[in-house]
Order: sequence, then structure tokens, then C-alpha cells
Amino acid sequence: MAENLERLKQRIPLLEYLQRHNWKPRRAGSRQEFVGLCPLHQETRPSFYVNAAKNLFYCHGCGRGGDLIRFVQLFLDLPFRQTVAHLEQELTPAPVSLLLEQTVAFYQLQLHRHSEAMYYLEQRGVHDPALIEELGIGYAPGGNLRRHLAAWCSSFDQLLEIGLINHQGRDAFCRRVIFPCRQHGQVVNLYGRSIGAAFPHRLLPRSKGGLFAWESVGSFSAVILVEGLFDLAVLWQAGFRNTTCAIGTQLTPAQLAQLADQPGRSVYIAFDQDDNQAGQKAAQQLAQRLQSAAVCAHIVRLPHEHDPNSYFVAGARAADFTASLQGAYPV
Ligand SMILES: [Zn+2]
Repeated sequence: MAENLERLKQRIPLLEYLQRHNWKPRRAGSRQEFVGLCPLHQETRPSFYVNAAKNLFYCHGCGRGGDLIRFVQLFLDLPFRQTVAHLEQELTPAPVSLLLEQTVAFYQLQLHRHSEAMYYLEQRGVHDPALIEELGIGYAPGGNLRRHLAAWCSSFDQLLEIGLINHQGRDAFCRRVIFPCRQHGQVVNLYGRSIGAAFPHRLLPRSKGGLFAWESVGSFSAVILVEGLFDLAVLWQAGFRNTTCAIGTQLTPAQLAQLADQPGRSVYIAFDQDDNQAGQKAAQQLAQRLQSAAVCAHIVRLPHEHDPNSYFVAGARAADFTASLQGAYPV
């Protein structure tokens, strides 16, 4: 029993618990000492001290002090046993979907606070505020997600396992523009585009399960399929709402089935026009797979070395892209 209680106190540090319940401390003298208003009684001058190293509190106002369990007992006015049960419940990991939603919302807020991220979006031709909001685009400046998610009872290990933080506890998506990937309205993955020197693309290490980064296949009789989320963003911005993105050129059987789920649908493949022909080859192979699934596939040819994103950044308009669609050749 005593051992369990020790473990409980270690897993929920007193200072962390207090902050999660809106206690606003400031440092008092030594590195590990904090002071703030006492949550246990009304006061205007801070007299509630926490020693983070010892994991103990003491209030000079009401003269009460002790450990986490003692605090929660007083704070919630619960008997000892119920207090322990309550704290054990706090340890139950939060659902992953909730943590992902909170992450997306947090990064969305950061986007507007960091001009380097807005500048990057602008450079990639994404400037419509309504679209940025609709796609849920955010920015991870780095280093502060973990503290934010502490309010939702997430543990270090859980965030590490999901892939939101690294072993140092820092944001895994640091200095990346974030796009949430949704399925049935729920965030199931994140795509992060580096704006710095790091490898450009990052996803959470969750199985994609064959989902499209944006579920817009819906009931469209014609679908434009692109490689990247920036391609999708500029096309949506230009009015091509029937664009979807598989993040890459490889489709899983589930994604193929999704494209084939409506008879008579046409799919316009608008991949990169790389110098090494990789995009064109991938498009060709995919078109053949679609044809065998009874989907009418067309390959969109863009000017040399362009993808839909760079094409729009270079000044193309909706009419130019419409012309490319009309010029697409069936396979
Ligand atoms: Zn007090």
C-alpha cells in the first residue's frame, strides 16, 4: 500500500497537479520553491508554498501542509481512501483522439503568433484565412506541447508513444506547419511540413489505415487526386473542392476501394512533374490500378517540373488548371 502511494505521488507531481487545476505560482527564492494564492482558503496575498523537490506544500495563511494526497483530501473534502481512488483515476490515460484534437487546437493558436509560419504559408500560396481555419492548419513552434497537454492527464510515455514528443520531451513536430488528417470528423494523424532544415515531411507513426488526408471523395463524380496537402490547399482555395490527397503517390487497397465506391467516377491524377519522371511513373501505375477497379482515370499534365502547388505559386489561375484538367489524357 505505502509503495503504491509513493508511486502515485511520483506519477502525479504536486506542482503539476496544482497547475493543472489552475494554480498560478511564481518562483520563491530557491529553484524548487514556488508560491501562490492558497487554493484552500480565500486570500489576497500569496502564502501557499510548494517545494517541488520534496513534493510538499505548506500554507502560512491557514497553517495546513502535506503531500499531494493531503492536498487533494483538503481541496476536494474527501476521505483518504476516496482521495486515493480519485487520483488513480486521474492516471488513466486520456483517449488518443482527445489528445490529438487538443494538439491541433493548440497548434492552430500558435500559427497566428508566429510570423515565420504565416510567411511560409504565404510563400506556398496559401493565404485565405477561411481556408486555413477550415483545414485546421497550425504551427508547432516547439517545446511547449507537453505542458499544454498536461491539463488532459497525458503522461510522458503516452505522448512519446503517440509520437507527439521526442525522448527529450520536446515537440516532435517542432518548426513544422501542421495539417490535421481527419477520418469521420476525428483527427487520426498529423502531417507536419518543416519550415527549417529538417526533413520536409513528418507524420505520426500510426498506421494510415488507407485514409485520405482529406475526406473529400464524398459524392463527387470527378475527383482530383494530388500528392501533398499544399497541392490540396491551393486547389481548394481556387475552388476545386473535389480535390483529395493521399500524402504520397502510393494508394492502399482501402483508398482504391474508396475511389471506386461510386460507379462512373472519374479520377484526375495530378502528381508532380519531376525531372526524374518518378511522379509520372507513379501516376501511370496508379491509373492502371484504377482502371482495373473500373474507375475512369486521367493523368493531368502540368508544365515541366510543376506540381499543383508550385503551379499556382508561379501565378496559375483556376482557368489554367481547368485547362490542364480538360487536357488530361485518359489511360
Ligand atoms: Zn491556506
